[in-house]
Amino acid sequence: MAKNEFDIINHYFAQQQPQRDDVALAIGDDCALVDVAANYQVAISTDSLVAGTHFLVDADPALVAYKALASNLSDLAAMGATPAWVSLALTLPTIDEAWLAPFCHGFFELANKYNIQLIGGDTTKGPLSITLTVQGLVPRGQALTRSGAQVGDDIYVTGDLGDSAAGLALILNQSHCEPALAAALVERHFKAQPRVNVGEALRGIASAALDISDGVIADVKHISDRSQVAIEIDVEQLPLSAELLAFCHGDRQQAQQLALTSGEEYELCFTAPKANRDALKLALAHTNVKYSCIGKVVAGHGLSLLQLDKPLSWQLSGWDHFVVTNK
Ligand code: ADP
Ligand code: MG
Repeated sequence: MAKNEFDIINHYFAQQQPQRDDVALAIGDDCALVDVAANYQVAISTDSLVAGTHFLVDADPALVAYKALASNLSDLAAMGATPAWVSLALTLPTIDEAWLAPFCHGFFELANKYNIQLIGGDTTKGPLSITLTVQGLVPRGQALTRSGAQVGDDIYVTGDLGDSAAGLALILNQSHCEPALAAALVERHFKAQPRVNVGEALRGIASAALDISDGVIADVKHISDRSQVAIEIDVEQLPLSAELLAFCHGDRQQAQQLALTSGEEYELCFTAPKANRDALKLALAHTNVKYSCIGKVVAGHGLSLLQLDKPLSWQLSGWDHFVVTNK
């Protein structure tokens, strides 16, 4: 039975994971040591999840671990980086093995899938929270930033949008629907797939990229601000799943509103020059991830929402402050 902090680290964290050749020294010393190949840069990102704020205290630990790592992997994907190493700072109220065992199972299942190795961390006592720092590798100069969008580029998203918000509404009992549909949407919320292979494939093709964590209209604004351009999104081009349309009883407008505002989608949103359309098609064909053009980059600043080239016929309640029109 694991008892103290050191036992926990040894039992749960030191053993069951991928062993990468570029890790010279892993868990157990004062620092980890890793080798970085010449001509590569390290992309680094940190995210914290706090019980009661980012997940319910009694949430399934395996899902909490998945969400923590998936959201960090999504940040690497958005940079075009290949996952390599991760550190875990864990604060636990007590050494609760009934919590730790499924947490580690969820964590290492995803870590193994992406060959990312846990190389260190910290374990402390206190209110439950999880902080991960992920590190990934990207060929020098090829990282996908938010600042490279150019007037004339297309703007795209991967996958479908809106399912995560529908799943969350179901989890919080704010909405109801038939069980099979509810199960599918809840799964989309908890088990979003980080688009790592898409991010890698977009190197040299996309001009800017980010992952959708706060809702596409909030996130696209970061591209428009950092790139000093305006972005037009055609709501009719937003990719909507059959499940989302069923959840909305076929009401496209409601589905489009969810698609625009749904956070924690972990889909990628990226811009690319028109000249790269064929290269994009070829590069993403191997990923088995669908992508959709949802609009274009134009001169100006802010974001405008259009419907088949005309102004929107409806208002996006509560989100208007995010929408700055350039018309
Ligand atoms: P220090 O006192 O030097 O901070 P610790 O006793 O906190 O060392 O940790 C010992 C070793 O275990 C270190 O290599 C550290 O990176 C690792 N470690 C501690 N907690 C975790 C964790 N939750 N996950 C992975 N590695 C951990
Ligand atoms: Mg420590």
